Amino acid sequence: MNTLDVNGLHVTLPGPGQRRQRTVLRDVSFSVAPGEALGLVGESGSGKSMTLKAVLRMLPTGSRTEGAVRFEDDDVYGMDARALRTYRSHRIAMIHQDPRTAVNPVRRVGDFLTEGLVLTHGLRRREAAARMVRALADVGIADGERRMAQYPHELSGGLLQRVMIAAALATGPRLLLADEPTTALDVTTQQEVMGILDALRRERGLAMVFVTHDLDLAAAVTDRVAVMYAGTIVETGPSADLHHHAAHPYTAGLLRARPVIGSRTRPAPLPGRPVSAFEAGDGCGFADRCTYAQDACRAIRPALAPLGTHTTACHRAQELADTHALEPAS
Ligand code: SF4
Repeated sequence: MNTLDVNGLHVTLPGPGQRRQRTVLRDVSFSVAPGEALGLVGESGSGKSMTLKAVLRMLPTGSRTEGAVRFEDDDVYGMDARALRTYRSHRIAMIHQDPRTAVNPVRRVGDFLTEGLVLTHGLRRREAAARMVRALADVGIADGERRMAQYPHELSGGLLQRVMIAAALATGPRLLLADEPTTALDVTTQQEVMGILDALRRERGLAMVFVTHDLDLAAAVTDRVAVMYAGTIVETGPSADLHHHAAHPYTAGLLRARPVIGSRTRPAPLPGRPVSAFEAGDGCGFADRCTYAQDACRAIRPALAPLGTHTTACHRAQELADTHALEPAS
């Protein structure tokens, strides 16, 4: 049984003036097995964070949802209020991009860390504090008691993100949702925080959905990657061979746009701007930025189809693979 199954998820939100619904996610399907890490990759606005909100059933007011989200075979959108509370507080945990937006700046770190355990897990405050000191030690914070007496502004960004990881793991979740957890940190701290998160996840056999715009980071810490564009998944494949065998022109474009240490090839930014699902029209959402676009691409939306170890949504995927057109320049 998978930890998470998302099937044909379609989400619309009210447009300006609440008059017309606008599509923000279109036919999103993926699954995550116990202990597996899936990377959701794409530019801003591609639907990555909205997908996490849909998994948490925390979409904005007025949204409409079709399709299914199943957690260990439970229908998330069929849960009553009590089951939903248990799902969010015991079975799933979220790590946000900027830890400072997830804490109350006028309350001590210890209040934030123990509150959930006291309110939803029924622990006494002293028991909760002892458990959190151990959880802080697990993320490399040896002086947990001192840190718990401090306020968030007294901790560096890296330290505060480690506190967030401790908080997320302390409730014993089976699925971790990580929304660009290192984007707000400097490069060396990023490496440190990712190392801790990756080690603890593997040690505890947790499933994870890891959202990032950084393909290299996704390839390093996940088993599989799903690339999103215009609110839909355009390619999935094993993280290990993503760099050499991109099957969709958008994935290949993202790879060409990033600087590579030691390479004499200059990064080539993708032309144009990313579009949202509701701007994508009837055909392929990537057509206006794609070097390989043909008339048929603008008329018919390509569906995800298998291509070797990948799935890809591109009318010309087989032809591009046969001619090695998307392979990186050596
Ligand atoms: Fe490019 Fe056409 Fe493939 Fe879309 S379907 S990615 S426009 S070649």
